[in-house]
Amino acid sequence: MPESLIFELSTPGRRSYSLPKCDVPEKRLDELIPKEFLRETEPNLPEVSELDVVRHFTGLSQLNHGVDTNFYPLGSCTMKYNPKVNEEIASLDGFSRLHPYQPEELTQGMLQLMYELERWLSEICGMAGFSLQPAAGAHGELLGLMLIHAYHESQGQKKKRVLVPDSAHGTNPASAARCGYRVEQVKSNEDGEVDIDSLKSAISDDVAALMLTNPNTLGLFETQVIQMAEIVHEAGGLLYYDGANANAILNICRPGDMGFDVVHLNLHKTFSSPHGGGGPGAGPVGVCEKLLPFLPVPTIVKNSAKSGQGGDIYRLNYDLPKSVGKIRAFYGNVGVLVKAYAYIRTHGADGLYHISENAIINANYMMTKLKKYYNLPYDRTCMHEFVLSADKQKKQNDVRALDIAKRLLDYGYHAPTVYFPLIVPEALMIEPTETESKETLDGFIEKMIEIAQEAESNPDAVKQSPKSTPVSRLDEVTAARKPNLKYKKNSTAP
Ligand SMILES: *Cc1c(COP(=O)(O)O)cnc(C)c1O
Repeated sequence: MPESLIFELSTPGRRSYSLPKCDVPEKRLDELIPKEFLRETEPNLPEVSELDVVRHFTGLSQLNHGVDTNFYPLGSCTMKYNPKVNEEIASLDGFSRLHPYQPEELTQGMLQLMYELERWLSEICGMAGFSLQPAAGAHGELLGLMLIHAYHESQGQKKKRVLVPDSAHGTNPASAARCGYRVEQVKSNEDGEVDIDSLKSAISDDVAALMLTNPNTLGLFETQVIQMAEIVHEAGGLLYYDGANANAILNICRPGDMGFDVVHLNLHKTFSSPHGGGGPGAGPVGVCEKLLPFLPVPTIVKNSAKSGQGGDIYRLNYDLPKSVGKIRAFYGNVGVLVKAYAYIRTHGADGLYHISENAIINANYMMTKLKKYYNLPYDRTCMHEFVLSADKQKKQNDVRALDIAKRLLDYGYHAPTVYFPLIVPEALMIEPTETESKETLDGFIEKMIEIAQEAESNPDAVKQSPKSTPVSRLDEVTAARKPNLKYKKNSTAP
């Protein structure tokens, strides 16, 4: 494990390369670059050998936790295993070496792939069309709200408010506010669903949209969604579906059939792109028929071949006078799109159904086993995830959700999401995902039970954990504000 910064390994004159002698006349830099652009001091770069670099960064990479290392039940994030074959396919030369400025005649394969992916996502969600351009879920939300705004404007309507349930992901109110809307909260009821009376009292004809996550962030299906759609539509509003966690509904039900007008998906959660390290994602947005004219340019269109006249032709269409314009350079993160295409194609409709079935079974299995040891605020069948509360442990021995999360690190697990959703005190939000075996689930359950018992018999041990990680308990605020990246064994300094 690296104990030094790479800068501290530096030895003057050490190099990672040896180049052949230059066979053209050498020139000094200030003969090539105007002086005002030249730096005055040498850059402070580490002078190290190739092996120093490899050992250092391999060591650092081993400090990471990933789905490929161990179980990662981070609620609302869907840290499931992403099959390597999809990475292989996305890195085929024909995809990875394309240039966005290549003419359409030379990019027919990619255009066909994107066209078909749009059609499949539309089918999966019950929408009329999709844009693949947004680079993340939150980016999709922004586009979705821009589309809603453009639609209302085209109807001569100026709407001011967007309604968001109190269980919603933080990006929902943020996206609505970014789009210039006043955000208003709708309360949840004791079943963990949107409270219909609260919705009724908030709705009026100045509401542009209700943003809904279904299953919601408690992992519960909103059973009154049809009624909610009617209430919002009657008042002239639209329904926005946050589909970041679509692994709960694939080929079981469709947002379009529930009454939603706009949907975003997170391909990097549901459709096979590793994420969490800030890598590329995709948050495609689907719309109902009446919002199609507002989609960002370019859209992809297919000119079907007439019989006996060669293949279909795909092209980019920029001719959409009502379009909200461009939301991203070129066509989106196409590598992520290729992985999603391959994933959907390998699974097919039945496979997608089994993905969601397994996600739901795994979550319910774990929830049922753990609810004897932790408080389960909403005790009903869940979808792909569930939320426990450590309020019992906190009351008894002041062991908090954070302490339990930290103790899990000692067992090599990634911690669940904690303190979200905000309506559950001491929340532990657990998403086992569909790709984990019963053995893995049982291993995690066993440790969660042990920790619950330890919280009673030896609460200090839980509160002082983790002990087996490179650094133990940190002051979280200082660690975030003034990170000290230097590793010291068993250090508790930030
Ligand atoms: C992850 C998530 C988002 C945001 O997605 P990003 O790709 O991180 O921007 C939005 N809503 C829900 C419910 C999510 O889980």
